[in-house]
Amino acid sequence: MKRFWKKTAFFTIIALIVFSLVASSGTKNKIFSQNIRNPESCIVAGSLNKHQQLNQICTNTLHNISTPTPQTTPTLIPNLILTNKERFLAAITDKLIAIPQPGTYEYILLRAYGSAFVNHNPEVQLPSKVVFSDEKETKEFQSTLNMGKVNGTNNCYLQKAAADALNQAKAQVNIPLKSGYGDSDCTRTFATNQRFWRKYANNKTLARVQQGQETKILGTVAPPGSSQHLWGLAIDLRVASEAQRQALNQNGWFRTVEYDIPHWTYIGYPLDKLGDLGFENKVIGGVSYWLTPL
Ligand SMILES: [Zn+2]
Repeated sequence: MKRFWKKTAFFTIIALIVFSLVASSGTKNKIFSQNIRNPESCIVAGSLNKHQQLNQICTNTLHNISTPTPQTTPTLIPNLILTNKERFLAAITDKLIAIPQPGTYEYILLRAYGSAFVNHNPEVQLPSKVVFSDEKETKEFQSTLNMGKVNGTNNCYLQKAAADALNQAKAQVNIPLKSGYGDSDCTRTFATNQRFWRKYANNKTLARVQQGQETKILGTVAPPGSSQHLWGLAIDLRVASEAQRQALNQNGWFRTVEYDIPHWTYIGYPLDKLGDLGFENKVIGGVSYWLTPL
């Protein structure tokens, strides 16, 4: 008899635990659904791996982030409950096949060059991994891109959305290319990426980068297959004035690679959204960078 009561008490406790878990997750989902039109709450939902339908709505909402819609719901508190890193990872989670694990070479590359992965413009293509193995893989990706020409250049091409945004900035103020050669300042081949790497570094440097012992070189040159220039979303420019910087920022272009002063990345969001996406601002020698929080 004693055993019977023990068993009953045990199952009652289990039932109560299960009930309270279900009830609390129900409440959370309700909060998320109420705030679903708010992109920040989608980032929260994404980071907490809510069910698929929610993520679908969120992905659509994030796609529409650039088109202002009337805000009918109050702002949720994601900024307070999520770290920058959590918000950044939530924003890029649907881009890569897998988010690299901390301590790996891929994670080091994601930290240095992963800023562009937050772009949710459906016209912008991103690779499904952070480093291409060879020219063939690079070309396969590049063949899927819709390219556009940068005005006032001979052969500078970027993904069309990025080129259009840059041309808008150039319509406001003159912004020259760094070298003037489109195939090195703009979209590069794997071979060009590799040639630049060999100019400044070698296999030993690569091994040190892969082991996390060397990071500063990443601000001078990208290891073979990992440059943002392979994606058609980066450009090297000669920017000296505040007016040039502002025109670029207003059109979604930012310095995102630490110590790489001429290098600009197309993020596609206005300056005031970068914090929401987890970016961290760092000013070095008067130069303002927007870095991944990894
Ligand atoms: Zn560059």
